[in-house]
Parts: sequence; structure tokens; C-alpha cells
Amino acid sequence: MQTYAYGFPRLGKKREYKRIIEGFWNGRIKARELQDEIRKLEKGRLLTYEKYVDKFPVGEITLYDNMLDTALMLGLYKCEDLEEYYNLCRGKNALELSKWFNTNYHYLIPEFHGLFKRSEFRVAWNKPKEFKEIYQKGIPYLIGPFTFLKLSKGINSGIFKEYLMSLADVYIDLIKDFNEVHIDEPAFVMELSREEVSWIKQVYDRLGSQNRDINLFTYYDSVDFLKDLYELPIKAIGLDFINGKENLVNIREHGFPEGKILIAGIVNGRNIWRTNISETVELLRELSGYTEDLIISNAAPLYHLPITTENEQLNEGLLKKIVFAEERLDELKLIAKIYSGKKQATEDEGKIVSFSINPEVQQRIKNLKDEDFKKTIRYDERIKEQKKILNLPLFPTTTIGSFPQTKEVRKKRADFKSGKISESEYKTFIKEEIRELISLQEDLGLDVLVHGEFERTDMVEYFAQKLDGIATTKKGWIISYGTRGYRPPIIFGDVSRPKPMTLEEISFAQSLTKKPVKGMLTGPVTIISWSFVRDDIPVYEVAYQVALCLQDEIKDYERRGIKIVQIDEPAFKEKAPIKKRDCDEYFKWAVKSFNLSSKSKPETQIHTHMCYSEFNDIIDSIAAMDADVLSIETARSQMELLDVFANFNYSKEIGPGVYDIHSPRVPSVEEMVSLLQKAAKVLNTDQIWVNPDCGLKTRAWPETKSALGKMVIAAQEMRKAEQE
Ligand code: GLN
Ligand code: ZN
Repeated sequence: MQTYAYGFPRLGKKREYKRIIEGFWNGRIKARELQDEIRKLEKGRLLTYEKYVDKFPVGEITLYDNMLDTALMLGLYKCEDLEEYYNLCRGKNALELSKWFNTNYHYLIPEFHGLFKRSEFRVAWNKPKEFKEIYQKGIPYLIGPFTFLKLSKGINSGIFKEYLMSLADVYIDLIKDFNEVHIDEPAFVMELSREEVSWIKQVYDRLGSQNRDINLFTYYDSVDFLKDLYELPIKAIGLDFINGKENLVNIREHGFPEGKILIAGIVNGRNIWRTNISETVELLRELSGYTEDLIISNAAPLYHLPITTENEQLNEGLLKKIVFAEERLDELKLIAKIYSGKKQATEDEGKIVSFSINPEVQQRIKNLKDEDFKKTIRYDERIKEQKKILNLPLFPTTTIGSFPQTKEVRKKRADFKSGKISESEYKTFIKEEIRELISLQEDLGLDVLVHGEFERTDMVEYFAQKLDGIATTKKGWIISYGTRGYRPPIIFGDVSRPKPMTLEEISFAQSLTKKPVKGMLTGPVTIISWSFVRDDIPVYEVAYQVALCLQDEIKDYERRGIKIVQIDEPAFKEKAPIKKRDCDEYFKWAVKSFNLSSKSKPETQIHTHMCYSEFNDIIDSIAAMDADVLSIETARSQMELLDVFANFNYSKEIGPGVYDIHSPRVPSVEEMVSLLQKAAKVLNTDQIWVNPDCGLKTRAWPETKSALGKMVIAAQEMRKAEQE
């Protein structure tokens, strides 16, 4: 039994990737050195593969993102040097970022514009060849033409086919010199039309006629057109048997064609729980009934996992239950041995043991009734109460929560963690920051204030550290885009709140002002989305457990006189399944989780915030979330995102972001007024809040103060115009 792995993380055990590339951005590292170091890193990655598995791709490494690299290889952009390369990645003229399928990796969206003609496609850069030269054993890696085009922007369905066919020629040029190639086509798991499937057949008929030795990988879900896929003239088909449960069902129905190899993805690339070896071996025995040509691999690329558990100091029981990317490779090796009878499976190899059970939490979940997921009073009634209590002007101004996380703030936190300063010193420091911020917001004239989130590293990790049943790691970094990493917490047991999580900071902030301060929480869906979640109970139950902790926190807020609470759900849409037919079920529990978390007194005003989202497909769910105020990112789209709310007759209050916080540029009062006027054309004036697009954590102080000052003036002008 052969093993084949792909997608091993590029970050490096010591996050070398980040150091090298950011070093280049800062001028510490020269172009030549960057190239050398990156090649070294790629070599290390390949040696890791080689240690465990028989086959693997070469050239998966990228200086930023593989969709961008594909666009460059095909001649969509011109790029002479690294400066130009990174101009496409970051800064003023950068390409847009978008979620890669339903993962938390963001890719750069290649964008086709009117000037580019399909005749201009060409091999502008043979990246696989370049890397094949440094490492002979690897199989040259490519993102397939269909996935590339499907995930690009500016190719409408009218021209899709023509462009795809033109790409076929370029891909033929790319692959003709190799014995064998590795092609990723994750877009094959989307719900595709018959027409699209026929185009796939046409394009692969052409590729296969040049080089039949294609290992084609699909992942993240099952393929709906398996029979057609079987007909492609390629060598091997990779299917995901973990995230695409229907693949097995379909194989049972259609079998597997002779003369092709099945690459069965059987160890999870998206979650960290140890593989159940005996179940997996059983699955393989079943698959071998359909084909003798069986190779095993990971299901989904391994870069959704941190590199290794080696240096983690987790609870020992937990540590035994989890594996990261390198340990996944080891699992493949082990499974192959056990399958071929070279090794015996031991007792505990992969038994699912439930862990850290809390009967009280489980009882609470069991006792949940329909009314726990609903507000007691309808929106139009409760908003009247809230208005009376809050007494806010028209176009109330607020911010999304975080304020600049300066070097000083981060240093103090590091000092506290390393024991250099005491907890009380650290807390005093945070309180001073809060005190200053409250007085700044009062001076600026903002209406609803925030405490600034200075005590939080990360909006999910912070809560994970306060909750029981969730662990956080020391080095479990994964890349979310470019060189940006985060450490997903591990939800391993029943989740409970041993004590209030944010109450001290929020009520301290409120004690300093007569204006309302927003309690600030991360929502249950976002906490789940950005964590590794236990799989021994349904995910919605985990979400409800988290929701109940947040609900308890809000009750504590209410006791301390907090009148407004914001529950952030930036990941609400991203967790949605790839196939539309599975979305209903997801949104049902996602909405319920949010509503369970925000079940509070009707006079407590609930805000929620989302960013990077198109709301067209999900407006029903947004309305069902039943928050009183929703703030969203709208500045970059010039308020276009609001149309869907207008068409839906969305009646609740909305804070459409009036300026983009991703850039240090300070917008003018006129710009913001004009955006607000646009908003006022599609919404009622008494529905509109005034706020930036998102949190201000990545900004510096000078631009923050200046922009918010102007934002307040813009709101005042809107009020004046309304009175005239
Ligand atoms: N309250 C969070 C902040 O301001 C929201 C962040 C987000 O939407 N990603 O930082
Ligand atoms: Zn946001």
C-alpha cells in the first residue's frame, strides 16, 4: 500500500516563513536571500514528507499565495521582481482576499478585467519546473485550470468555457515535460451544472491526451459527478472520505473504474483528532473491493493543521488524542503498515474516548426548549423600550470594539506572561488604557463607547483561555493569509464558564462614564469556526454550550448596569458548507446558537458585527438572528452591500461602515457624509448607525483619532440636514 501526502504547512517549525518574508518587507533581508531561504524551507518540507510517505508534490511553497502564483504562471499579471510581486499581495494596489472554500485560509482573488484577452494566456513562469529542479523526487504541483478560473473574478458564465479551453493549451505546455503531475481541483466538490461538468471533461480530455500521468485531487467535500470524473483520461483520482461522506456512498453505487488509481483521503487535514485506525482499515478493505489500485493520503491539505504537537505542553490525556500535520504523516505510514499486515493495531489506536465531561453542562443542553432560542418580545416593541433608556441621537456614533494594539500594549502582555510583571501591575496598566480611551471617546463626542479590547490578543483565543473545556496551544500556528498566522484553540470537552470573562473590564469602563459602554463578546459560531472542535458530539451542541456561557456573561453585564452588548460573528458565513443543499441545516443551528447566546432582557440592546461578507444568499438568516443592531463592512463596496437589506425590507438598525480600517488613510468628512447619504437613500434615517468598517486594532493612534473625529462631524452634519 502506497502513501501520498500533500499540503504540508509552509510556515516552518519556528515560523521561519514569516520571519523571512516579513524580513524582506522590512528591508532586513535581500531578494536573493529570500529566495534561498524559501528554497531551504521547501527542502525541509519535502524531507519531512519523504520521512513518512512514498509520494508527494514539489513546489507547493509560495512567496505569498498559490492562486496568485497560478495567475502569474498563466500570464494574467506581469511581475518582474519581488517588489512587484508583493505589490499584488499587500498595500494600495493589492488583489482582494477571499476565503478559500469553507476554510479560514484566504487566497488572493485573480481578477480578469476588460483589457486581458484569452489569447494572452501563456506560460509566463514554469514554477513547477523551477522547483522540480531543486528536488527530483517530488511531483510537480499545480492548481487545476477549472478551480483557478472558478475562483477568479471577472469571468462570467458567458465566457467561462472559452477561457477554460484557452487555459488547456497553457496547461499542456506546463505539464508536457513531466512524467507525472499533481493537480489540485477542489472546485470539483462544488455544486456544478451539467454544462460545467462537460467543460471539465473537455479540458481534461485535452490535458490527458498530452500527459496521462495526472494525479488529480479533490477535497473538502464529495464530488457530485463521480461517473463523469471516472471518464477523464488521467491516472489517479483523489477523493476525500472524511469531509465528503457521500464519496463512499457514490462508490458503493458506481464502483471504481479499472485502470485508474484511487487516492483515498482518509486522515483528516482539517481537524486534529487521532484517526480511528481500525475503522479506517475497515474502510480501506471495503474500498479495495472496488479497486486494487489504492493509495492512501490525507483528506484535505495538511496546512489547516499546525506543524507538530512535539513541543506542546497540553494536558497529557489531551495530547494523546490529538495529532498535527507531521503526526498525520506518521498515521499514514502506520495505517499502510497495519493494512498490509506488517504491523498489528494496538488497543488504543484511535478509539474515540469522550473527554472532560461536565454533567451539569449536558443537563442544561438537554433542558433547552424552543423558547430559549427566541426573544420574549418582538423587535418593534423592544426597540421602543431601548430607545427610551438609551436616549441616543439620530445617526448614533460608535466603533466596532478594538482600538490600536500598540507595541507597548503587546510588550506589557508579554511581560505579564513571562512573569516580568505581576498580574496586578498588568491589570492596572490595562485599566489605565481603558480610562484614557473612555475620556478620548467622550472628547471625540462618540455616543456609544467601548473599552478598547486592550486585554485581548485575539478575539477567539481570549475567550478560549477563560472557558473550561477549551485548550490553547503554544506553537499551534496556522496561516490565515500571507504571513499572518493564528493559533486555533482546541475545544475538547464540555464547555463551561468558571467565572465572568470580560465583566471586570467592561464594568470598569462603564463606571467611568454616563454614556453607554458596549459589552463586547465573540459569538458562538465564530468561536467554533476558528477552533478545532471535538467530534464526539454534534457540532451544534458544542455551539450551544458556548452560547450558554455567553448568555451567562450577558446576565452578569445586566446586573452591573450594562445596557448594550455586541456579539461579534465575523465567521458566521464562512463556516457554511460548500454545497448549497447542506446550508439550510447549518444556518439553522448557527442562527439558533446566536439567539441562544443573546437571549437577554428585552431592554438590553444586542448588537452584532460581521465583516468580509456578501449577504445576498444569507439575508434570511441574518434577519433571523434577531439582533437589534447589525454593523457591517460597507465602505469598500461604496454601500452597495446595503441593497440587499433594502430589498429585503430589513427593519432593524444597521451600522454600515463609513470608512475602511484596513488602510491608514484618513477619509474626509465629505466622503463619509456622502456614504451616509447613500445609506439614507435605501434605509430609514432612524435605522442608521455611524461606525467604521471593523475594529481599529491594527491602526495607529494618530489616524484613528483623526478619522473618528471626522466621523463624528459627519454624523452631526447628517443630523443637521435631517432637522432642516
Ligand atoms: N470587536 C472586534 C474588534 O473590534 C471585531 C473584530 C472582527 O470583526 N474581526 O476587533
Ligand atoms: Zn469586523
